[in-house]
Amino acid sequence: SAESGHQLFEFYSEEMYRNMRRLAELECDLFKAVENKEWEVYYQPKVSVDEHRIVGVEALIRWNRNGEAVSPDLFIPLAEKLGLIGHIGQAVMDKAFGFLRLSSMKDRVPIVLSVNLSPYQLMEPDFTQSVIRLTEKHGVNPRRIMFEITESAYMHHFDKAQNAIRQLKELGYTFSLDDFGVGYSSFQYLSRLDFTELKLDKSFVQSLAHNRKNRVIIRSIIGLAKQLGIAIVVEGVETKEQWKTLKTLNCHSYQGYYFSKPLSAEEWINLLAGKFIL
Ligand code: C2E
Ligand code: CA
Ligand code: CA
Ligand code: CA
Repeated sequence: SAESGHQLFEFYSEEMYRNMRRLAELECDLFKAVENKEWEVYYQPKVSVDEHRIVGVEALIRWNRNGEAVSPDLFIPLAEKLGLIGHIGQAVMDKAFGFLRLSSMKDRVPIVLSVNLSPYQLMEPDFTQSVIRLTEKHGVNPRRIMFEITESAYMHHFDKAQNAIRQLKELGYTFSLDDFGVGYSSFQYLSRLDFTELKLDKSFVQSLAHNRKNRVIIRSIIGLAKQLGIAIVVEGVETKEQWKTLKTLNCHSYQGYYFSKPLSAEEWINLLAGKFIL
């Protein structure tokens, strides 16, 4: 009837209103978080089984919004939309480079620090300068800094990104292609930009047990990376079974909860520095 149609409309519009309001509040809090630098950075090891050690560490942003953690998968895209990602990226680099400095004084073997980059950051004209400034501020070696980037529609301005990547590579920084295999143009990225490392997306590992084709795919991507002279890290390894299967597929470097969750800087320095032997 006309009446129930009316009710339906009211139901949806109220629902929509609530969602919009929630989004606006989140956006508002995100601005405040930028002003107050409410970020924390956690660190997850990349391990090499051959070398029996940690070979790298990935910096992952954490935002505690009034006592509740918000997933970066939620607020990073929002920050990109609101033009806040540059500020956030700077704050993450500042912390992470400081962490690199501290941990390399404690570690026996120096590790490589990976920082996730939004493609928007790479397009900013002063990005390279700010990386150099922060590197000098913390007195760290560019050869110990890697940037992880993912495929993105925005990166169709390949030449801008290519310029920034080339400049930074000349100074010793390296680049990793993150979430490899889930986008539409992973191979185009691989051929056009200059990567030192490739990270196989965790979705491959998650479907390993019930998708036999995945094993063939993983094995051939590893072979491809080897032929291109690019290191490969498999992410999202959660169980011993997954790790065992991956070993048979020629994987050597891993990241995932099975080895370690992301840790706070304190946890890392206290528990892990120089002691992590597989
Ligand atoms: P990512 O770069 O692909 O990072 C891997 C994500 O998988 C992280 O989630 C990590 O905590 C999680 N992870 C690690 N091991 C496992 C595992 O064994 N199983 C599963 N299921 N997950 C695992 P997180 O920290 O929530 O970050 C999500 C995404 O947010 C990142 O995906 C990255 O794209 C983005 N991100 C995080 N920190 C930053 C940052 O500082 N800057 C930018 N631009 N993006 C960031
Ligand atoms: Ca990453
Ligand atoms: Ca990833
Ligand atoms: Ca991801």
